[in-house]
Amino acid sequence: MSAILMDGKALSAKVRGQILEETHRLEEQGVRPGLAVILVGEDPASQVYVRNKEKACAECGFYSEKYVLPAESTQEELLGLIEELNQNPRIHGILCQLPLPKHISEEAVIAAIRLEKDVDAFHSSNVGKIMIGDFDFLPCTPAGVMELLDEYQIDPNGKRCVVIGRSNIVGKPMSMLLLHRHGTVTICHSRTENLAEICREADILVAAVGRAHFVTPAMVKPGAVVIDVGMNRENGKLCGDVAPEVAEVAGYFTPVPGGVGPMTITMLMKNTLKAAHLQMK
Ligand code: NAP
Repeated sequence: MSAILMDGKALSAKVRGQILEETHRLEEQGVRPGLAVILVGEDPASQVYVRNKEKACAECGFYSEKYVLPAESTQEELLGLIEELNQNPRIHGILCQLPLPKHISEEAVIAAIRLEKDVDAFHSSNVGKIMIGDFDFLPCTPAGVMELLDEYQIDPNGKRCVVIGRSNIVGKPMSMLLLHRHGTVTICHSRTENLAEICREADILVAAVGRAHFVTPAMVKPGAVVIDVGMNRENGKLCGDVAPEVAEVAGYFTPVPGGVGPMTITMLMKNTLKAAHLQMK
């Protein structure tokens, strides 16, 4: 058996096309969605992400601004820039690329972004809203996974869902979105006992571990949906948390690259569009 590939690149292109149409409609009303992306320092992976975000903005017809601050910038300087962007009417969404240099508090920076412009949905108020299921912005990576599931008509309702990873940006919100869609969700992490056994029970298995090829075929129930969130570098090559041989056991799987990655950025665009709508009111 060979699994069906869930093509995040193709779905992203389709959704970005729909966003572009909506941008044109907004422009007729005098508003062009605007995103500001801030990068502090020269982390090579972050530079790639920021470049991809700029490219996505162009595809969606958005106005975008990029700010590159030196690694030795102070927290006050960064907070000052965020405050300016909070007040800037051309900017509807603000994204500060993480991780930040150690001397800057990520919590303080996230908390400084105006709620209506928090298109990453990292602000504690937005996180709380996701918990109760009444939100403006969805967390980008988990939202991208949900769009992929919908596109391939995979309904988590009543299904056994296992998420490996409990980070604030992926694992926890991913579990919450699956729960909102009536999945029976188990969250695994580094202290989980019998991890392989638990994974083998999953109808939908989401790997957000950050370890190359962590999920092996022996951990996958035949026919399961396997979602690979991982973005790891091995010998300079991008690879996921799921071993390629899993495709022989799974029913569906997401490739790396070309699966969840492009969807994450597309969901950021969706949130920016939503932010523009919210700020028009
Ligand atoms: P993270 O903050 O490092 O969290 C990793 C999680 O995996 C933690 O909860 C950790 O458990 C768990 N874990 C680590 N080793 C484990 C083990 N041996 N057994 C079971 N669980 C283990 O990472 P993240 O930010 O969630 O990102 C996860 C991966 O997704 C990374 O590869 C990242 O690059 C990628 N990512 C991709 C996208 C995308 O757009 N595709 C977006 C964001 C992140 P503990 O909590 O117990 O330490």
